[in-house]
Amino acid sequence: MEQALEQFLKEQFNKDIQNASNEEIYEALLCLTKEKMKGMKRNEGKRKLYYISAEFLIGKLLSNNLINLGLFDEVRDILEKYGKDIAEIEEIEPEPSLGNGGLGRLAACFLDSIATLGLYGDGVGLNYHDGLFRQTFVDHKQKEEKNPWITPHSWLTRTDCHFEVPFKDFTLTSAMYDIDVPGFDSGCNKLHLFDLDSVDEKIIHDGIEFDKTDIHKNLTLFLYPDDGDDNGRLLRIYQQYFMVSNAAQLILKEAEERGADLYHLDEYAAVQINDTHPTMVIPELIRLLTEKKGFNMDTAIDVVRKTCAYTNHTILAEALEKWPIAYLEQVVPQLMPIIRELDARVKKDYDDPKVYIIDDHDLVHMAHIDIHYGYAVNGVAELHTQILKESELKPFYDIYPEKFTNKTNGITFRRWLLHCNYELADYIRSLIGDGFVKDAAELEKLMDFADDEDVLARLRQIKQQRKAEVKAFLKETEHIDVDENSIFDIQVKRLHEYKRQQMNALYAIYKYKEIKKGHLPKRPLTMIFGAKAAPAYTLAKDIIHLILCLQKLVDSDPQVRPYLKIVMVENYNVTKAEKLIPACDISEQISLASKEASGTSNMKFMLNGAVTLGTEDGANVEIHQFVGDDNIYIFGEKSEKVIELYADGSYNPRDIYWNDHFVQELVDFIMSDELLAIGDRENLFRLYKEIVFKDWFMALLDVKDYIETKEKMLEDFEDEAAWSKKMLVNIAKAGFFSSDRTIAEYNNDIWHL
Ligand SMILES: *Cc1c(COP(=O)(O)O)cnc(C)c1O
Repeated sequence: MEQALEQFLKEQFNKDIQNASNEEIYEALLCLTKEKMKGMKRNEGKRKLYYISAEFLIGKLLSNNLINLGLFDEVRDILEKYGKDIAEIEEIEPEPSLGNGGLGRLAACFLDSIATLGLYGDGVGLNYHDGLFRQTFVDHKQKEEKNPWITPHSWLTRTDCHFEVPFKDFTLTSAMYDIDVPGFDSGCNKLHLFDLDSVDEKIIHDGIEFDKTDIHKNLTLFLYPDDGDDNGRLLRIYQQYFMVSNAAQLILKEAEERGADLYHLDEYAAVQINDTHPTMVIPELIRLLTEKKGFNMDTAIDVVRKTCAYTNHTILAEALEKWPIAYLEQVVPQLMPIIRELDARVKKDYDDPKVYIIDDHDLVHMAHIDIHYGYAVNGVAELHTQILKESELKPFYDIYPEKFTNKTNGITFRRWLLHCNYELADYIRSLIGDGFVKDAAELEKLMDFADDEDVLARLRQIKQQRKAEVKAFLKETEHIDVDENSIFDIQVKRLHEYKRQQMNALYAIYKYKEIKKGHLPKRPLTMIFGAKAAPAYTLAKDIIHLILCLQKLVDSDPQVRPYLKIVMVENYNVTKAEKLIPACDISEQISLASKEASGTSNMKFMLNGAVTLGTEDGANVEIHQFVGDDNIYIFGEKSEKVIELYADGSYNPRDIYWNDHFVQELVDFIMSDELLAIGDRENLFRLYKEIVFKDWFMALLDVKDYIETKEKMLEDFEDEAAWSKKMLVNIAKAGFFSSDRTIAEYNNDIWHL
């Protein structure tokens, strides 16, 4: 590698390694790594997986690719020899902004594991030029900016693959870009990102505003463009159809190239529909088979049903997409006869309106297409799948019990341990050998060291190093000072009421008041938040406003400042996650029970030795089972109770507010003079009213138990030996949450590649 690097820098920049800039070295490493991947063996097989997803939150790729190619250590050492730091070089790489949160990050972890297990499977998505958005804070509020990430040299490779995608009023020609996905010590797959040559970033103005009707210019500008108006909703349908029509054409083309008789398409292709966004791939495949390949409807439906499978990621009603027929008629009228036919067949066989595809408001229920016309449906954690079967999708489960399975989510340990915390990975290697890298279950061997004081001391030392690095990072990037000897209490995830950042903010208020009363904590506490709010989600933005106001309040108070620090990091993304997660002591996983399908940051934190403070929700339930009561802090009402409260409508936050003085004081503080002096009355009052009168995600239900449990946790932190044992147990029990395990299960039970 050293020679190749030298040669590249000489030829391109006439420099040697020593005097090349970080930018030049980055470009050299990018090109050399791409070259290496070109020469890699392609994973192959007869049946090929197409993982279609609106999001792929892949993060920066340089280190990850070098790790998977087995070149990371070598490159790091070469650079070190010339006084260069690979971490600094990595800073140059822009993070692709192709995802929103957990769903997109899951898709990225899955691609890594699919390639690593040697399975033949590619991702299919869109090449959003400006991604989701870049978040900044102005006057204690979120502001959205465009987030361009495509530079002249990037991981994208333009291919000569093009398809014609027909819409009602025009036809567009796509361009396909590929990103290589190298497996760890294995073959290579691809991520195909479809794009349009006519897209024009110049139409964006004032942050993220643009003309939503100019489809030729706007189609692949943004992920999840604002759907607050008709044009926004239509644009989302344009995007979804563009994604799946390209996918469907690619699938048929590749199957035919590989000699498939399309009547046996299912032997050549498995399509995983990640959430409902790619649902139209089902009617689109049926359309192509009937219109272009001479299939009759029965046969086309039959073949497609054996090819497509669906993953459900949420039970939140607003996320299960329903498109008005009128919108689909306006964008993709060619699909409507097929969707009506699919619906007619359902209505002929079943008389329960709950399973109809088209309801009597002329809404098309996308998930219902997936469940009737796919061969598998899976939830993403035990509890989530159980809720799907028993309540949310019960009418479907009654019809198709054999289709439903659980596939508890996972994370790739290459990125979330080897890359983001390589001292910890190296230390684990020195204790239990290398086996855990390919077989994560081997982490369990760490249990032999649960009472080994030297091992526990080293774990604490590594955690301390990570905290010092976060301190330096926050100082440099956001001009924020944190105390590396404080307890790091971290909640990073999308901002949503069900995740209850507002409950954590109420804790901050509690702590602030305690300190003002002179009840000083034994050790300072650093509360770190990171979250983007959807631009149209008013309350989520109000919660960000509250947190930023609290941050300011605490910072300006010399009496409180030594004991409490609140930090909301700007523009939370994968790169920031990789820095924050290894430094965490307390992992906040406090969603309202039944609402978080799985969560994956809970797994990343655990793997890096943080202890979970959480509700019995999503994969927290399984984490709890693995680590046992002593190594996790569980609080709050259980999902059965919550589901009951929703069913009978008996939850009333006003009762708690009026009857519990302790809770009332915390909530009232949102409208205190102190906060109103910093923040905006309109935003704070709206949030206050929401919590007192609606509190749809029941923060007040659990807030007391939450505060008590967190206080207990802070106290337990002071018992160094006991706490570091909890750290070790969490790491040792994390093996189940490797996405290699998840993908092996998908393959055994669903894909059969
Ligand atoms: C893992 C991850 C998420 C998902 O976090 P949850 O707490 O599981 O919702 C979101 N964003 C980023 C950047 C991540 O890395």
